[in-house]
Amino acid sequence: QPVVTLDSVSKSFDGETAVENISLSIEDGEFITLLGPSGCGKTTILRILGGFEESDSGAVKLDGRSVKGVPPESRAVNTVFQSYALFPHMNVFDNVAFGLRIAGMGEADVRRTVDEALRLVCLESMGRRMPKELSGGQQQRVAIARAIVNKPRVLLLDEPLSALDYRLRKQMQKELKELQRTLDITFVLVTHDQEEAFSMSDRVVVMNDGHIEQVGTPREIYEEPANLYVARFVGEINVLDGTVTGRRGESYTAEVEGASVLVKARREFADGDRVHVLLRPEDFRVEVMKDLEESPDLADKFAKALLKGTVDGTCYRGATYDVDITLDDGKRILVTEFFDEDSETLYFHAGDRVAVGWFEGWEVVLPHE
Ligand code: ADP
Ligand code: MG
Repeated sequence: QPVVTLDSVSKSFDGETAVENISLSIEDGEFITLLGPSGCGKTTILRILGGFEESDSGAVKLDGRSVKGVPPESRAVNTVFQSYALFPHMNVFDNVAFGLRIAGMGEADVRRTVDEALRLVCLESMGRRMPKELSGGQQQRVAIARAIVNKPRVLLLDEPLSALDYRLRKQMQKELKELQRTLDITFVLVTHDQEEAFSMSDRVVVMNDGHIEQVGTPREIYEEPANLYVARFVGEINVLDGTVTGRRGESYTAEVEGASVLVKARREFADGDRVHVLLRPEDFRVEVMKDLEESPDLADKFAKALLKGTVDGTCYRGATYDVDITLDDGKRILVTEFFDEDSETLYFHAGDRVAVGWFEGWEVVLPHE
């Protein structure tokens, strides 16, 4: 049985829809992330789960029971806010102990339980510090300790790392993921950062303008995006335009950006259907035309597709480099290339005439939008 279910949940503020028809089941022990741009309704969903907001329609269940009218403190759900929200006049220990004392726990148990929570967030020696004596990252750890100390069923985290600098954020992502495994509590994270969502989550919920576009594992979202919105929100994508011309075994023949190509699609199409063929920058194989003409054995690299174009320029990125190419029909594409081990210079240069194909495998082919 799922630990959380949302069934057709909608919420408006002053007649403006914030979230609409949200249905989602969250499994016990899962790390799930709501991913989407600012204003798409992520916080609203967390606030409805936490009990800080009542939905206008639809049902919310925790462990199979409706939580309609149940106040936040009576739900087995805690929230970590972006703003930490620590009590400034209490030291770290008392901040974490606060809820336990309110609930009437004896002082010996409070000490043991708080020490354990502080140990889990690597703050065991910081109990006597005041919040203002801590760094931002340490304050966030206190907020997390306070939210896990009473062992909730579900921990809600609203952009908890977005105020931290890049390196600390990367480190905290790993620590949070480890903490979730150790505690075996369900985590629902909100972020607008695709890398953060991918690196931590079992499943990602991609949101757009108050509704869900796709739910899936990070790999499903990246490799099988349901539509152009999802494809564009997670990483770089090249959208080629084409028309299906026929079927050949598992593949379709298609006219794409002025060339005849083969695409292997997981969806059904009919002759004449207009489609988008989606290719990540790393999906392409590119050769300088002159080299291709001189070595026929390279030609089978392009068995699926042979588009022609001209290199606009390159951009060094460390482990890889980007190549900007304009195809002969005017479409611009972005390609990621790895360095040849034995080569000291880039293989591609502005002005090169190039052949563009793509690697064997399933292509993402979507109906034309
Ligand atoms: P996100 O967390 O994805 O940035 P929110 O859930 O905060 O998005 O907001 C979704 C939409 O609902 C936005 O248009 C926002 O302005 C609106 N909204 C959220 N909370 C309130 C509120 N308390 N009063 C009025 N409008 C709100
Ligand atoms: Mg928000």
